[in-house]
Amino acid sequence: MLKYRSYTANNLQTLPQYGGMSEDQLHVIKTVASVYPFRVNSYVTEHLIDWSNIPEDPIFRLSFPQADMLDPLDFNRMSGLVRSKAGPETIRQAAREIQLLQNPNPAGQMELNTPRINDEPLHGIQHKYRESVLFFPSEAQICHAYCTYCFRWPQFSGLENLKFANNDVKPLIDYLNAHPEVKDVIFTGGDPMVMSAELIKKYIRPLLSIPTVKTIRIGTKALSWWPYRFTAEHDASELLSFFEEIVASGKHLAFMAHISHPREIDAPEAIEAVHRIRSTGAAIRSQSPIARHINDNAHTWETMWQKQLELGIIPYYMFLERDTGAKHYFELPLAQAVEIFNDAYRNMSGLGRTVRGPSMSCSPGKIIVQNVMELHGEKVFALKFTQSRNPEWTNRLFFAEYSESASWIDDLVPAFGHDEFFFEKEMEEFYSYY
Ligand SMILES: *Cc1c(COP(=O)(O)O)cnc(C)c1O
Ligand code: SF4
Repeated sequence: MLKYRSYTANNLQTLPQYGGMSEDQLHVIKTVASVYPFRVNSYVTEHLIDWSNIPEDPIFRLSFPQADMLDPLDFNRMSGLVRSKAGPETIRQAAREIQLLQNPNPAGQMELNTPRINDEPLHGIQHKYRESVLFFPSEAQICHAYCTYCFRWPQFSGLENLKFANNDVKPLIDYLNAHPEVKDVIFTGGDPMVMSAELIKKYIRPLLSIPTVKTIRIGTKALSWWPYRFTAEHDASELLSFFEEIVASGKHLAFMAHISHPREIDAPEAIEAVHRIRSTGAAIRSQSPIARHINDNAHTWETMWQKQLELGIIPYYMFLERDTGAKHYFELPLAQAVEIFNDAYRNMSGLGRTVRGPSMSCSPGKIIVQNVMELHGEKVFALKFTQSRNPEWTNRLFFAEYSESASWIDDLVPAFGHDEFFFEKEMEEFYSYY
C-alpha cells in the first residue's frame, strides 16, 4: 500500500520530524498558516526536505511557512491570537482582513480574463491570449503540497468570490466551438494531477473531437510533490493509457511541470515518472518562478536546466514573483534576476536555450526582461512581450529606466523621458469595458 500522509497546521504533531522542530518554529508555522495555505505530504517530508538543514533548506522554505512572509505587524497580530488560543472564527476573521490586503486577484484576472457567452461570465475559464484558454476544474483546486510562494493562494484560502472553478466541461466546449482561434487548452488549478484518472477523462476527452484544438497542456507539480501519481498509484496505468489516447487522437499533450529546485528531479521516483510520461508520447516542459531563499542563484538554475535536458524535459519559462501574497519575501530585483538568468543561460547548449525569462505575468501580458543595456547614453532595461492582450504587441521591444531595486512592471518608468509605455493607453481602454 502506498502511504500518503498529508500534514497541515492542525495535525502537525503527527509529523515524524515534529520533535526536531523548536517551539518557535512550530509557532511560526501555525501563525503564518492561518493566513497562507499550508499543506505538505509524506513524500515531500521523507524524500525532498533535508531536515539536517532547516530552516535554510530550500525545499523546507518552499513548503513550510516562514515568519517573514507576513508583515511584522500582521505577524504579531496573528501570533497573539494563536498564542491566546483565540477561537477559529476570530482567527479566520483576522486572517481574512490581512488576506484581502495582499492583492489576492492580481493582473485583473477576474475582470479582464473571464470570457462570456451572451454576456454570461463563464466561471472557471480564462481567456487572455488569443491562442490559449485556461480551464480550472473544480476538483483540481488543491495541490499535493502547497508552495509558499504560490500566486494562486486565494484558490486555497476559502476566498470564495475570488476563486475560479467549474465542475462542468460543457461551457468550455461551447466556448471552444465558438472560438476557433483557440488552439491550445491549458488545464490548471491547483494541480489537475490531484484528480482521479476517471475525472481527468471527463474533462479532457470531449476536447479530443474538437478539430480546432491542437494542443492540450496540463500544469502540474506532481512530478515533484507526488510522482507516484504516474507510477504507483492505483489508477496510474489507466492515466498513462489515457495520455496515449490523447496523443493518438493527433493532439500534442504537454505537461507544464513546475520545478523549483534541482533536487526535485534528482529523486528516482520523479525520474521514473518522467520516463513513464514521455513514453506515452507526451512532452514535458518546465516553468518556475525565481524566488529568494529557494533558487536565487545561477548555479541552481544551470543545474536544474541541465538535469532537465538529460531527462528530456524542455526548459520553458523562468517567471518573476507575482505581485500578490508574500511577494516581498520571495521577490528579487529585476536586475538581479536577469543577471542570474544570463549566467545560467550562457552555460547551456542551444538545447537548453528554449527557456524564456525572466518573465512578469502582468495585466497587459507576459513581459520578458531581455537584458540591461546602454542606449543613447542611458542605462535601460530592454523588455518585450512574449504574450500580450493585444497580439500586435508580441515581440515588440520597449525600454524602461534601469533601476537596481525595481521588481515589477509597476516599479518601472519608461526610458528616454517618455510619459508612458506604448501599451498603456490601450490598456486603459481594456479596463474601461468593466
Ligand atoms: C502564461 C499564460 C498562458 C500561456 O502562455 P504561453 O506563453 O503560451 O505559455 C495562457 N494564458 C494565461 C492567462 C497565462 O498567464
Ligand atoms: S503547485 Fe502550483 S498551484 Fe500548487 S501550490 Fe505550488 S505554485 Fe501553487
